[in-house]
Amino acid sequence: MNILAIESSCDETAVAVVRDGRTVLSDAIASQADMHATYGGVVPEIASRKHVEAIAALTDRALEEAGVSKGEIDAVAVTYAPGLIGAVLVGVSFAKSVAYALKKPLIPVHHVRGHIAANYITHPDLEPPFVCLCVSGGNTMIVDVRDYTDMSILGSTRDDAAGECFDKVARVLGIGYPGGGPMDRLAQGGDDKRYELPRAHVHDAPLDMSFSGLKTAVLNLAHNAQQKGEVLDLPGLAASFGAAVSDTLVPRTMEAARQMGYGKVAVAGGVAANSRLRGDLERACQKSGDKLYLPALSLCGDNGAMIGCQGYYEYLAGNRGAADLNAYATRDIGIG
Ligand code: ATP
Ligand code: MG
Ligand code: FE
Repeated sequence: MNILAIESSCDETAVAVVRDGRTVLSDAIASQADMHATYGGVVPEIASRKHVEAIAALTDRALEEAGVSKGEIDAVAVTYAPGLIGAVLVGVSFAKSVAYALKKPLIPVHHVRGHIAANYITHPDLEPPFVCLCVSGGNTMIVDVRDYTDMSILGSTRDDAAGECFDKVARVLGIGYPGGGPMDRLAQGGDDKRYELPRAHVHDAPLDMSFSGLKTAVLNLAHNAQQKGEVLDLPGLAASFGAAVSDTLVPRTMEAARQMGYGKVAVAGGVAANSRLRGDLERACQKSGDKLYLPALSLCGDNGAMIGCQGYYEYLAGNRGAADLNAYATRDIGIG
């Protein structure tokens, strides 16, 4: 079964062709990151307009690279939530018209479910149930993946997402946008104990997280240094920051894994590319005896392949989008 998958929830327009869930025939991506770098963050209206410009040509490219004709497409999957509403709407409207024109079913896919599915592509042996740490630019949650389309949140951030925190800190330190990758590289040469940064705990909710205090601590540090004319040890600060984020994410993920007892832990989303986080999880899983599944680096950020993969399992579960399918800025991962 060939699924044409469309993703436009943030600043990447992505179209892929995926066969039977886990075989990626093509994965075309047009990133707008350079465009938004000027502003230090994604400008929603620009994102929507760029999706409109890119999506049709990108679809042609994805079909061509896959060696699949329009007539050989069996269904169209699309991210319909969560994300920037105008951006998601572009993908949903386009996918609806393609599905209608081809007379094929339309499959709505939850973006974070898609991120989780990147692990199915990377690890052909992986099957639910497992616990998945989902960390990206807009979401940070620990998910109980009971089955391909049956999941619920065990713990989540009360404020900022971890990726958003990386981006904001990087912006203030002048490290670049998006900030996660550059912060990760900078941290490689730094002392992770150079700066003392807070690790927040949410009272009475041991699996919940908070990153706003950590973000504010780094911003205050940067502003104070600027006022006093002091030079910050940037590699040390990036390493200390990466350690604080990982120290918040890893113990909670391992506690969730212990509670569920599946023996399998996965990671998903843009921040899953973080080397400190990957290393810390590897060590923690070695200690606990859980099997760790890390997505390929190329599949951590937004892409169409993950939407095509999850779309296949949504299709098998009977999930279809009608002609009145809407886009949503937020949506519980349990609803799908
Ligand atoms: P969401 O998936 O929540 O809707 P999004 O789609 O914008 O948000 P992703 O594309 O999944 O997010 O991930 C982008 C985020 O990942 C950015 O915040 C980016 O800084 C972060 N990121 C990318 N690489 C790394 C890295 N090596 N270390 C830490 N963060 C990283
Ligand atoms: Mg992006
Ligand atoms: Fe994403």
